[in-house]
Amino acid sequence: MSLHSAVNPRYAVLFDPVRIGPVIAPNRFYQVPHASGMTNALPHVRARFREIKAEGGWGVVCTGAVSIHPSSDDAPLPFATLWDENDVRSHALTVDAVHRHGSLAGIELWHGGASVMNRASRLAPLSPSGVPWMATHVGFMGNQRPRAMDERDIGRLLEWQAEGARKARRAGFDIIYVYAGMGYLPYEFLLPEYNRRTDAYGGSIENRVRLVRQLIEVTREAAGGNAAVALRISLEELRGRPGRHAESEAHEVVTLLADLPDLWDVKMDSSPTDCAPSRFAPEASHEPVIDFVKRLTSRPVVGVGRFTSPDTMVSQIRRGVLDLIGGARASIADPFLPHKIREGREQDIRECIGCNICISSWHDGVPVRCTQNPTAGEEWRRDWHPERVARAASDASVLVVGGGPSGLECALTLGRRGYAVTLADSAREFGGRLRFETRLPGLATWGRVRDWRLSQLAQLSNVTLYPGNELDDEQILELEHTHVVVATGARWSRMLYSAMEVPIAELDVPGVYTPDDVAAGATLEAPVVVFDFDNYYLGGALAEHLAAVGGPVSYVTPAGHASAWTIMTNEQPQVHRALARAHVALHTLSRVHAFDGATATVRNQFTDVETRLPCRSLLIVGLRRPNDALYHALAARGDDLKSAHIASVTCIGDASAPGAIVHAVHSGHRYARALDMPEAELYRRDLPISDVAARIYAAEP
Ligand code: ADP
Ligand code: SF4
Repeated sequence: MSLHSAVNPRYAVLFDPVRIGPVIAPNRFYQVPHASGMTNALPHVRARFREIKAEGGWGVVCTGAVSIHPSSDDAPLPFATLWDENDVRSHALTVDAVHRHGSLAGIELWHGGASVMNRASRLAPLSPSGVPWMATHVGFMGNQRPRAMDERDIGRLLEWQAEGARKARRAGFDIIYVYAGMGYLPYEFLLPEYNRRTDAYGGSIENRVRLVRQLIEVTREAAGGNAAVALRISLEELRGRPGRHAESEAHEVVTLLADLPDLWDVKMDSSPTDCAPSRFAPEASHEPVIDFVKRLTSRPVVGVGRFTSPDTMVSQIRRGVLDLIGGARASIADPFLPHKIREGREQDIRECIGCNICISSWHDGVPVRCTQNPTAGEEWRRDWHPERVARAASDASVLVVGGGPSGLECALTLGRRGYAVTLADSAREFGGRLRFETRLPGLATWGRVRDWRLSQLAQLSNVTLYPGNELDDEQILELEHTHVVVATGARWSRMLYSAMEVPIAELDVPGVYTPDDVAAGATLEAPVVVFDFDNYYLGGALAEHLAAVGGPVSYVTPAGHASAWTIMTNEQPQVHRALARAHVALHTLSRVHAFDGATATVRNQFTDVETRLPCRSLLIVGLRRPNDALYHALAARGDDLKSAHIASVTCIGDASAPGAIVHAVHSGHRYARALDMPEAELYRRDLPISDVAARIYAAEP
C-alpha cells in the first residue's frame, strides 16, 4: 500500500500543494516562525531541530525572528541574527537541512523597534515617535527608551531589510518575511499609540501602512523573483478599531496591501493571546480575529491556533479561514504530525497540551523544551529522534515502579526499544499527579501526557501494566527484574517559608493541608487561605477550584503576582483574571507566618508588617519532597539485590528531584535512552560558525 493511498480521504485536502508566489509548498502543513531559544550560537542544534520537522512532513519550515541589524538586539533573550557572512552560513545549515526533505525554508526577518532594549549593542532603540514599550514585568523591563526615527532612519531600515533579504537568498531561503507583528517596529507604525507622526508615515491608515508596504517592496526586489515574500502581521488590536472605509482598521490594512505579499501570515498581538495557554483558550482561538483575511486577498493565508486535530484543520480550509495550517507548538510536540495524518495514524499524534513550557524556554534563554516531546531541543545535542530509538542492547527486563509522567515515558521508550517492561502503580489508574491535577479548572488538556502514553503503550506487547499494585522492596526483590526504575513521584510538604526565601520548619497542626490532601479528597473548611510559594500553576488553580467548591478563599504569595512563574508560560494575566472572577482575595509580597486554627498571620515579605486573615483551613503549596523511601530501601539491600539478579536500581522523575512535568518526562526518557548504552557523553556542545573575522560594518544609526 502506498503511503498516499493510506490518507484518509477526509484529510486528503491537507496534502494539496499550495503555490506561494514563485515557490510551491508541497502540502498545507506550515511551521510558522516560532522562537526556539537557539541562536546563531547553536547552529547545528537549530538546523537539526528544524530539519526533524521537515522530515516529519511539514511542507514549510521557518526560522524564529532573525534580527536584521544590531539596532534590533534583544539580549539576553535568545534571538538570531543575520548581520554578517557567518550568520549567512549559520542559517544555510538550517536551509540545507530543511531542503533535504523537500520542504521550503522560510526566514522571519525582524526588527524589534521600541520593544527591544539593545542591551548588548547599546544603540538607541528605534521607534516611529519615541513612544516606549514600558513593560510591567521585570523580565521585559529596560531602562533604555527609544528615539524617534527620521526619514534617513526609515531609509536605512528599508536598506537593512533589503540587505537581510539578499543575505537570506544567499543562505538559500525560499520564503522571506516582513514582520509587522507583536509590538515590533513595523507594527508600531500601524498603531496610533506608537505612531504619532505627522509626516507621510503617520496619521491616516494609508500613511501608517506605508512602511509595511515599502518593506514588502524592497524585500521583493531583493528576493529577485526567486523567493516568496510573506507578511506576518498582528491583527488583534487593528480588528478592534472601527475603520473609516471598512468594518475595522484590520480590514483596511488587508485591503490596502491585499495581493502585495505572496503570503499572509496572520496572528494575534501579544504572546498571551497569540500563544494562548490551553488553560484559558481552546484550539483555533485566533479565528474570530483573522477569519476575514482570505476574503480580501487572493494570496494564500496561514494562521495558527494550537491545531492538533486534523478535523479542525480541514474545517479551517473548507470554511475558507486558512489555506495553510500553521503550527508552532503542534510542530514542537509532534514534528511527525503531518506524516502521521498521511499514514492514517492520527491516533498516534502526540498532541500539544498547551502548557507553554516551550515558550518559557525562550524566556529562560535556553533551547526549546517540551512537556510532550522530550526530544525537542535534543535532536542534535543528544542525537534523539522523536520517532526512532536504538534497539535494546540486551535481553534485560525492566520493572518501572510508578506510572506518573516519568514512569509512563520511561516504560514507553524502553518498550519501544524492545525491552521486556513491567509498569506498576499503586493507584488503580495511571497518571500520577495528573490524576488529580487534570480535574482542576482548565487543566483537562494536560491529561494528554498520560492518555497519549497509555494509548501508545497499549500497542506494545512487551510492556505489561499493573495498576493497583503497591510494591515494596521485598516484592521487588522477588520479581527479579534485571533493572528497577523507581518513579514514585513526590509529596507536598507543610513547610512554611522565611524572609530569606527558603522553606523552613513544617507546620504540622490540624487544619493545615497540602495539595496531596486535596487530591485524596479532604474537605477544607472555609475560610481557606492558600499559601503559594511554589509559584507555578498549582497554587492558583487550587485557589480557583476551592473558591468554586466552597469559598471564601484568600491567596497569599511572597511573589509580586499570583502564580508568579506563569509569566514565563503566558498564563499569568489570565490567572489573575480567573482569581478575580472567583472572588479570591489576593495578598502578594506576603508569607504566612503562623496559623492557630482560626486565623492565619501573614507578614509582608519586606516590612514584616502583619495582617491577620480569618482561616479555618490553610493549604500550603510550597515545597515538594521526593517520595524516595522505596528507592533508599532497595539501595540499602546491596547483597539481596545481587542474589535477586537485579543489576541496577535508579530513581527518576520527581522521586529523584521534584519539578514540573516537563522535567519528569525528560528524566524518564533519558533513562530509557541510556540503558545499556556505553558510557555516553552528556551531550554534544555546539559552537557558533565563525569562518569570517566578524565585524559589523554599518553606519551608526
Ligand atoms: P512523576 O512526575 O515523577 O512521574 P508522579 O507523582 O506524577 O511522579 O507519579 C508517581 C506515581 O508513583 C504515582 O502514580 C504513585 O501512585 C506511584 N507510586 C508511588 N509509590 C509507589 C509504590 N511503592 N508502588 C507503586 N506505585 C507507586
Ligand atoms: Fe505544547 Fe507544552 Fe510542548 Fe509547548 S511545551 S509544544 S505547549 S506540549
